[in-house]
Parts: sequence; C-alpha cells; structure tokens
Amino acid sequence: MTEKFDVIVVGAGMAGNAAAYTLAKGGLKVLQIERGETPGSKNVQGAILYADALSKIIPDFRNDAPLERHLIEQRVWVTDENSFVGTHYRSEDFNKEPYNRYTIIRVHFDQWFNKKAREAGVLTICETTVTELLIEDGKVVGVRTDRQGGEVRADAVILADGANSRLAVKAGFQKEIKPENVALAVKEIHFLPQEVIEARFNIGEDEGVAIELAGSISAGMMGTGFLYTNKESITLGVGCMVSDFKENKITPYDLLDKMKAHPSIAPLIAGSEMKEYAAHLIPEGGYNAIPKVFGEGWMIAGDAGQFVNGIHREGSNLAMTTGMLAAQTLVELKAAGKPFTASNLAEYKRKLDDSFVMKDLKKYRRMPDIFHKNKQFFTTYPDLISKAVQSIIRVDGMDKKTKEKEIRKSFVASRSIFGLIGDAFKFWRAVE
Ligand code: FAD
Repeated sequence: MTEKFDVIVVGAGMAGNAAAYTLAKGGLKVLQIERGETPGSKNVQGAILYADALSKIIPDFRNDAPLERHLIEQRVWVTDENSFVGTHYRSEDFNKEPYNRYTIIRVHFDQWFNKKAREAGVLTICETTVTELLIEDGKVVGVRTDRQGGEVRADAVILADGANSRLAVKAGFQKEIKPENVALAVKEIHFLPQEVIEARFNIGEDEGVAIELAGSISAGMMGTGFLYTNKESITLGVGCMVSDFKENKITPYDLLDKMKAHPSIAPLIAGSEMKEYAAHLIPEGGYNAIPKVFGEGWMIAGDAGQFVNGIHREGSNLAMTTGMLAAQTLVELKAAGKPFTASNLAEYKRKLDDSFVMKDLKKYRRMPDIFHKNKQFFTTYPDLISKAVQSIIRVDGMDKKTKEKEIRKSFVASRSIFGLIGDAFKFWRAVE
C-alpha cells in the first residue's frame, strides 16, 4: 500500500477499537489491521463489560451495543472439594439505569465496536497479520504485513495486539513474557433457555449474576474461576499461571472439567449444551511487569502492555482506557503540530499515571509475587475456612466453646502461630 496514514493501529480488540475510534473522531487518518477473519473472532473474555470505560469513549453506547445482561448480583465463592464459603452482594441500586456492568459476548461486541470505528472513518483490514514493525533510524515508520507488497507507512503505530505481543518482542521493545507473569485461561459457553437461567439464578429479564471463584477450583495453583450469566447462555472458565500449569503438570481442560463437576457448579449448568470452547493468555504480572509503553513513533495499549488488574478481574476496561489515552495523546500532538517523537509521546505515560489504570496496578504491585510464593492462600486456607464454617453450622452435640477451640487448633496445626501472623501480614501487604 503506497498510501500513508497518520496512525496504524494493530489489532481490533478492546484497546485497538478504542484507539482507532478515538483517533478517527479526532480527525486523524487511521488504518487498523486485524489478523482475525472479523474483529473479535480471535478474542476471548469472560466477559464482563465495565460501562464506565466505554461511556468515556462512546457515551450513548447503550443505544445499540450488543449487551447480554446487566449485573445485579456479585458472588464470591471460596471452594473446597465439596463446598463453598461465599459472599453474595445483590442490590436494587444495580437495577437503576445507567447500569454499571454488563455481560457481553466478545465476538458480537467487537464487531459492533469496530463498526463504530469504521463509521468514524477508520479503515479496518481483517485477515491480515502484521509481521513486523518498520524501523528507520530508530523510529517506527510503519508496519510489514503478510500481504503481498504489504508494507504500510504511518507517523505512529499503536500496538494493541493483545497478550504476549510478538511485535513488541521482535522490535526489542519488551522481553519475552515470563510464565510466572501470564495466566492461561479456558472458558466454555453453555446454552440454556432464558427462563431456565432466570429461575436458576433468581433473576428477571436482562438481570445477571457474576460468580468469581477461588480455592480448590485452581487445584493448588495461583488462579481463579468465573461463571457469568448471558441472555441464553452461561459462560464459565478457569485460569492459572502458566508456570504453575507447567510445574503441576495439570492441563487447563482437566481443571475446567473438575470445576464443572463441582457440586455447587454442576446444577447451574445441568442440561446445557456446550457450543463454544476457547483458551487464551491473560497477562497477570501486574505493575512490575509493565514494559516501556512508548518510544519513537510507537505506543502500546491493552494486554500487550500488561494492563490487567487480575484481582478485580478487570482487563477490557484497562484496554479501552489505555487505547483511548494513547489515541488522545496523538490527537493532541497532531492538533499542536508536534511530531510523534518519544519525548512528545511521553505524555501518554503521564496520562496513564494520572488514570485509575496505573493507580490500581500500583496499589496491587506486590500481589502477584506474594500469591505466587504463598500457595497456602489457594490451598490450606480455603480448606480450613470451609471446615470451620461447617463445624459452626453443624449441630452435633459438641458445645460451641469446644468447637471454637478445635477450629483454632486446626489453624495453628496447619500454619503455626508465626505462620498465621506472617500470612496475615503478607495478605495485607498484597492488598494494601
Ligand atoms: P485483545 O482483545 O486480545 O485484542 C488483540 C487483537 O489483536 C486481536 O483481535 C488479535 O487478533 C489482534 N492481533 C494480534 N496480533 C496481531 C498481528 N500481529 N496482526 C494483526 N492483528 C493482531 N476482562 C474484563 O474486563 N472482564 C472480564 O470478564 C474478563 N474475562 C476474561 C476471561 C478470559 C478467559 C480471558 C482470557 C480474559 C478476560 N478478560 C476480562 C481480559 C480481557 O479479555 C482483556 O484484557 C482484553 O480483551 C484486552 O484487550 P486487547 O485489545 O488488549 O487485546
């Protein structure tokens, strides 16, 4: 292609579409390149959409975006083999418009988002893979694609190519992602009639429930599970760190099968028809794993920049926000007639630092390391807590004081007094 663009955006996922849309709205000439057959065809998410991030880009998105259900209830379950200890939070406040969180199906959502970008003026080319960045005198000046004669030039390139950006590694902008900084997640979509879902989860039309799971569900590895209600389907999945899968020689499929067979999960999906299965990486190294995200003529947004808040299961909103901020930086520079040099693009980093993205990731900067080195949070404590709760609930002739003593003894026997104090301190450090 001989035509030159202001910006090339690689990827048509959450970050890429947010960036491309914002750039086109700002009057820049944008080429977006996506390797999938259609936007979203390669993308995997649970998927909860956080309305706040999208409404900053497309305020009236609720008019026509393909949304499944708005979430009115959040459950958090810590499982052992037979039980769960959990909290449920349900509020009528979540039933008041504008709703705050929705379930979505990514392939539908990404196509809608990309259509918005194209309507704003973006040229999107699908079924095309960017194979490398064109770099001249240390500056990114375009991309090379797998199409014949497929070099395209631009003043800047935004890498929004998702987890494990091969392009950034090839260009030397970041190192290979470490197995302890990335999770592998598998998910399935199970179809059920709408009225069955609503009866099983005690919800009305359009209302939804999200269940986040920890404990035995990850088989002693650092990871979590999830189950979300769509209109006529349930999405469920589980993800653990790649290094743990390797070490424990457990396959993600076995883990998901085990999760589906859990006595608290099986009845929720009973009688369903499984139609979709997908696996995908999630960068979960957190703040300390974030690479350099800008340079001469380039910026990185979304999963490619490790922008995922694993503990709160937020990724799509960080992707959209970083895509938007990268684009806003370029729009402002273009309006001011300034070139896309590294020193000018440093404004992107300033915008990131000011946003919830970096503030949240910084808050949890110690968490990945602490949880990685302290698997008792995924093994010993779920078991102990479940047994303690069961003992309190079960009426079996044992007096309550003796029960409390037994519970205390079980905690000390498993972790020792110093171990318990140490764990409390570590947990506090991880989340403070
Ligand atoms: P992606 O959505 O992965 O998009 C990258 C795009 O780039 C893809 O379309 C890909 O095909 C394209 N691409 C890659 N390389 C090239 C190339 N060389 N040339 C051209 N195109 C290329 N987040 C939430 O907010 N809520 C959730 O409920 C949630 N659940 C999740 C559940 C699972 C199982 C997983 C795996 C993730 C989940 N996430 C969730 C995280 C969320 O999906 C990601 O953070 C988000 O999709 C990142 O968006 P992105 O645009 O950076 O990357």
